[in-house]
Amino acid sequence: MGRIVLLPDEVASQVAAGEVVERPASVVKELVENSIDAGASRIEVAIVRGGATSIRVVDNGIGMDRDDALLSLERHATSKIRTGHDLARIRTLGFRGEALPSIASVSRFRMATRPNGAIEGTEITVQGGRIESVRASGEAPGTMVEARSLFFNLPARRKFLRSENTEVSHVQHQLLLNAIGHPNVGFTFIRNHSPAFQAPPANRLVDRIRDLRGQDFLNELLEIEPETEKGIRISGLLGKAGVSRSTRSEQIIFVNGRPVENLTVYHGLREGYHTALMKGQNPVTFLFLDLDPEAVDVNVHPAKREVRFREPDVVRDVVARAVRKTLEGDRSRWSRTFHTPPEAKPDRAPAASTQRLLDTTPALIPAAEQFSLRRDWSEFPVQSAPGRIAIRLEPDGGSPSQLAADARPATAEAEDPGASRPTTVMAGSDAAGKVKRTDSAPAQFRILGVLGKLYVLMENNEGLVLVDQHAAHERILFEKMRRQMESEGVPSQRLLIPLTIQVAPRDYDWLRMNAETLDRMGFALEPFGDTTLKIDGIPQFFRVDDPASAVRHLVDELRSMTSGTSRLRMGEDIVARTVCHHAIKANDDLRLPEIEQLVSDLLSCELPYCCPHGRPTMIQISYSELEKKFGRKA
Ligand code: ADP
Ligand code: MG
Repeated sequence: MGRIVLLPDEVASQVAAGEVVERPASVVKELVENSIDAGASRIEVAIVRGGATSIRVVDNGIGMDRDDALLSLERHATSKIRTGHDLARIRTLGFRGEALPSIASVSRFRMATRPNGAIEGTEITVQGGRIESVRASGEAPGTMVEARSLFFNLPARRKFLRSENTEVSHVQHQLLLNAIGHPNVGFTFIRNHSPAFQAPPANRLVDRIRDLRGQDFLNELLEIEPETEKGIRISGLLGKAGVSRSTRSEQIIFVNGRPVENLTVYHGLREGYHTALMKGQNPVTFLFLDLDPEAVDVNVHPAKREVRFREPDVVRDVVARAVRKTLEGDRSRWSRTFHTPPEAKPDRAPAASTQRLLDTTPALIPAAEQFSLRRDWSEFPVQSAPGRIAIRLEPDGGSPSQLAADARPATAEAEDPGASRPTTVMAGSDAAGKVKRTDSAPAQFRILGVLGKLYVLMENNEGLVLVDQHAAHERILFEKMRRQMESEGVPSQRLLIPLTIQVAPRDYDWLRMNAETLDRMGFALEPFGDTTLKIDGIPQFFRVDDPASAVRHLVDELRSMTSGTSRLRMGEDIVARTVCHHAIKANDDLRLPEIEQLVSDLLSCELPYCCPHGRPTMIQISYSELEKKFGRKA
């Protein structure tokens, strides 16, 4: 008896705050989300000492009248849902009515707010959850929320705050997410009283990303052609094949405007990218999925960082397909580079073409509007040159050096025979026969020679191109096998003496599950007792020296398949990839016609720029890089 008590409101709020307010970045997240929900077009975030001393968010949104302002500090007070039914169709970022009371319960809190058109505003101060004062104030329309001395009344929690730089980087990452999720909202970030960055309202995502991260970063990305499939609208930007990071910090996904972490989408990305990504690497994405709010549950995580899809398989497939399509669409980048005959003048090279790209970018905003925006913008207390956010940039894992996209249309070179006898390889002239041509223009490039019996040196308009013969050969073989698998199957070579191998029961299951794929791939495997397999045929091109170890390797690869990925396609690709790995390598001493063939076959591939393991097949060294190295250019 008497063991159970109802917690006082203040304590209950602190308990709730434990889930919502983890660190300064979570306060920023909740406040900025409120500002976005309030329809703000400009948001200013200021922090002092990583947010430990103070966090302030000012917006020009709809504001609150006195009654609403008071009510907003109550737990479970929200304007965003009314009934339990609404929970199933949330279109706002907030919905729980917990953030403001939680923040107010663990800080010295001040809110000043005024609806547009109201004669006066309201200012409320709260200390550790207790309202201290409510008075009329003369704020500009909109809302200002300030949280000082975060966790002052929870010393244990305060001790968990990390160094200022760590907290700042979390806040910046949060702001980056908000800014990318809402390009039309202008953001200013002020750190220790001086501006850290500013992102003016932008019409398009690419403009926002350029403002935040610069043109060079943008050059590494491809725009997804927006489309709606099975009720899911998919859009955004993806890293080019070979562009990757060792962490997921730049694998950014928005579902209905909300940045989320979601395994279903991760699996879709991995599946879409898989041969374009090295093992253990993560793609760079700014992916936007928009779907019926009823098809996604957002009420599954205290900080609303996760969502659950009603039909995850559909989402995964739509994502995978969009990624593949976008990456394959990018092959024109290489065709264009190679179709442009090399010119003898290095001075019309990359720097100029980057400039051209900038020049052709349509103006963000009509000139007239630009003026008004600028004026609006200057209403913010601090004006500064926009800075760049450097957010947890990972060292770039083996990304091929980027080509500056050439704005010239791919057809233009037809009239231009080029200066230095470009080798011309006609479409369809390849002996392999089955190489699929998706581009009918003749490829033009000039082969200079072979370095170390491995790297083909070529010249193109941008400078020097190096092709890794082995990687190129693997890519060509991989795609050829995949095509054969889809049609008649890969020819098998009989082993004179059949082999038997012993496999663990679980591995045995993997092999059985993929039996059909293996068969079409040219493996003739047969059960031979409980855990023994008999191999009497292996794919053509396969090295015959050690088929047993190759099959073991195959099993390891199959096992690494995650359960969320679609089994069939991944299975096929893994088999093909492994076979390529064990394939007879092209003769190292290639003669010129063979090299030409190799390069032209490579360029006909769907994903020519990386081998089936995600390593680059070609690297471009631009004239401007050379000029820098030789000190011709600063
Ligand atoms: P939620 O966002 O889940 O509704 P909050 O505690 O974050 O809960 O906010 C409570 C309510 O206060 C919101 O529903 C909204 O009506 C109001 N509110 C909060 N921040 C702002 C703001 N910046 N501008 C206008 N109204 C706001
Ligand atoms: Mg909220």
